[in-house]
Amino acid sequence: MITLPEFLDGTTPHCTPATAHLFDSTHPDDEQQATAICTGCPLRPGCAQHALTTPEERGTWGGLTARQRRRIRNPDDTAWVDDEGRLRVACGTYRALQAHLRYGETCGPCRAAQAARTEHARRASLAAEHAAGGTVNGAAIHRRLGEPTCVHCRAAVARQSAVQRAARRMAQHPELAMAS
Ligand code: SF4
Ligand SMILES: [Zn+2]
Ligand SMILES: [Zn+2]
Repeated sequence: MITLPEFLDGTTPHCTPATAHLFDSTHPDDEQQATAICTGCPLRPGCAQHALTTPEERGTWGGLTARQRRRIRNPDDTAWVDDEGRLRVACGTYRALQAHLRYGETCGPCRAAQAARTEHARRASLAAEHAAGGTVNGAAIHRRLGEPTCVHCRAAVARQSAVQRAARRMAQHPELAMAS
């Protein structure tokens, strides 16, 4: 059980004995509930500061889980706590983008970085489709990249359409299949 430091005793309606189990748990659902409770707590910045400097090794404090506080204290990690006591990471990473979304922010550099990661992943998939000689899937990736379909992928689409047309004709005229 976490023992609350004196400065918190009786001063917050947020983490009460009724919710204490959430603050002492490492289950992701409990941690999420605990950090959500902290979000509206007026003591949050001071509470996070206390947990980081004491340091408290266990439980959720000031909206930060024990794992997040370990990251902040790790000199090799770029994470830090902002003025509101929230965990932040350097812009440009996927985790930074997730943090912006969680806090209802928009960030140009993070969005641009995400777009670049998406394009990079699509280009890697497209290279695999081209290594297979051009495919229907490759044509779809060209479209998603907003570029014209290459001749190999276009040929694959044409082949697939021809096969589908033939199959439809067979279905509509079974006698054709018998005759061949
Ligand atoms: S910030 Fe969270 S842990 Fe700290 S007093 Fe408020 S509700 Fe409790
Ligand atoms: Zn950002
Ligand atoms: Zn192609």
